Amino acid sequence: MSRGGRTLAVLVVAGLLGTTACSGTSAGPVRPGAGNVAGLPVTHFESGLKPDAPEPDLRVRGAGGGTDDQLATAAIADVQAYWAGALPEEFDGQQFKPVTSLLSYDARSDTEKTGCGSVEELVNAFYCASDDSVAWDRGVLLPMLRQRFGPMSVVTVLAHEFGHAIQYRLGDRAGITKATPTVVKEQQADCFAGGYFRWVAAGHSKYYQVSTAEGLDQVLAAMFFIRDQAGTSGTDRQAHGTAFDRTFAFQSGFAKGPKECAGMNAENVRARLTERPFDSQDTGKGDTRLDEQALQLLKSSLDEAFRGAGVAAPQFTPGSGSCPGGGPSTPPASYCPDDNTVRLDLDRLEALAQPVDQEAEQAGREGTGLGDFAAFSEIASRYAVGIQKGVGASIDNADAGLRTACLVGAWAAFTNRPGEPGTSGLRLSAGDLDEAIADLLRPDGLVSADVRGDRPDSGFDRVEALRRGYLEGSSVCSKRYA
Ligand SMILES: [Zn+2]
Repeated sequence: MSRGGRTLAVLVVAGLLGTTACSGTSAGPVRPGAGNVAGLPVTHFESGLKPDAPEPDLRVRGAGGGTDDQLATAAIADVQAYWAGALPEEFDGQQFKPVTSLLSYDARSDTEKTGCGSVEELVNAFYCASDDSVAWDRGVLLPMLRQRFGPMSVVTVLAHEFGHAIQYRLGDRAGITKATPTVVKEQQADCFAGGYFRWVAAGHSKYYQVSTAEGLDQVLAAMFFIRDQAGTSGTDRQAHGTAFDRTFAFQSGFAKGPKECAGMNAENVRARLTERPFDSQDTGKGDTRLDEQALQLLKSSLDEAFRGAGVAAPQFTPGSGSCPGGGPSTPPASYCPDDNTVRLDLDRLEALAQPVDQEAEQAGREGTGLGDFAAFSEIASRYAVGIQKGVGASIDNADAGLRTACLVGAWAAFTNRPGEPGTSGLRLSAGDLDEAIADLLRPDGLVSADVRGDRPDSGFDRVEALRRGYLEGSSVCSKRYA
């Protein structure tokens, strides 16, 4: 976050948690809220290759038969099976054609070539249009992803790359031209991957099984990992999107199918893309210290954002971060219903607020901070629990957790009104939303936790709830997660 907004507007978040008129949000056939993932049940089982998966009938140059080649080859066979049905179904009978060639290589030693040049030291997976091939690095990239996030992360990467092959097959139907910005192509490919994963989650795949809780969590963790660095411009030729943007695209495809993806274009992507460079008022990498002044700014920003609820604002009380009297506590930040306070362990929150060390993250080292916005969001989430208590909503179940994440998103949007700085002087800076997503994907993050610290099982739901609040405002939170 950044400080230094001028005093200007007071925006009352109207309709917070009250009854409001329908805003046209599509609810789908299943009741939205905790307990379903875009209309599918929340499931728990081991995700990966099915025990009875067939042997793929595909020729892969360079494949050595190791685990990662096995996963990648099955992923390609599976994604092709998906598109063999989805392409004609969704796009006026268009016939599907498999890709021309597949290549497995080891980035540490191989010097093979595709139509796009040598793969030497290329820690990557890619679709090459000039020879219609898909290639992957089995030496570094795939084993690293698999070991850190699980087998579905490998499938995610290949489903995304195959999405680029689909783009070329769709041609005009996907609206891609030479002038299309990279980030739009990437959004479409993430979205196409989402469409495929829905098909797997619904049980149509011969090769893979994915649970909608832990299985899709592997997908989201992989997408988070391959996000662009904070401060990248959305117009950069290399831009692939923030974690916020990438998960948006994936979840759109998952919920709405590939037609939605083909409809993504420069205009509608630009309108919602959160990726942007740091601006001149951002100090350092947009990380602000969690000191006394920042805490006051945060408090007034929350008071303003939630004034429309018309309830007594929770007060901040630094100390141990636990509630007095032994009630349920969630240190380093707890909401205490007995006296309507948010108790804060500032030392631990300050540690959480340390800037993300992306180099350490890439190398798999733990123990670094998640960034200032992760800490601010945790505090905001406890405050939001207090607001829900104030209006008489439940605060101790999975819906309350999703509502909390949604309200944190609404508050984040409140601090992000370009040209209309809030009275509080806190502003969202580049990378902040991804810090909130990092918190949502953590096993013990508070942003989507209820008053006891329990979180909804599905990371897909948690991330979606935050984004809905951010994009649609606070009134959607009570409607959707009632
Ligand atoms: Zn891509």
